[in-house]
Amino acid sequence: MNLRKIEHLGIAVKDLEASKKLFAALLGTTCYKEEEVASEHVKTAFFGTGESKVELLQATSPQSPIGKFIEKKGEGIHHIAFDVADIDAEITRLKAEGFQFISETPKDGADNKRIVFLHPKSTNGILVELCQERK
Ligand code: ZN
Repeated sequence: MNLRKIEHLGIAVKDLEASKKLFAALLGTTCYKEEEVASEHVKTAFFGTGESKVELLQATSPQSPIGKFIEKKGEGIHHIAFDVADIDAEITRLKAEGFQFISETPKDGADNKRIVFLHPKSTNGILVELCQERK
């Protein structure tokens, strides 16, 4: 098993403050971390849910991919992130399997991760993120 667990679900929201309250009530826990990722034009808020996490994402500018997603599809599940031990090896493996990536070079994501996204057109319409803990 190369994709070891669902690390988090990314959920696109319009109003991070309101959604933080909603998810705190839903999950019965408080947000443990907030982080802005300037390169992605997003503000994020994380909640722990046992083995996995929920990542709320709010756009910080009109050119943000999250803003465009909400414009097209509305709020909701934006991506599924899987934990991997070696992101570079997984990119090589999945390319050989025929999967397409949005960018084949991992970048720094929120929550101390190196991340990369597979293109939804090669994964049944699901935006899949691979993430590896940064050391
Ligand atoms: Zn994510």
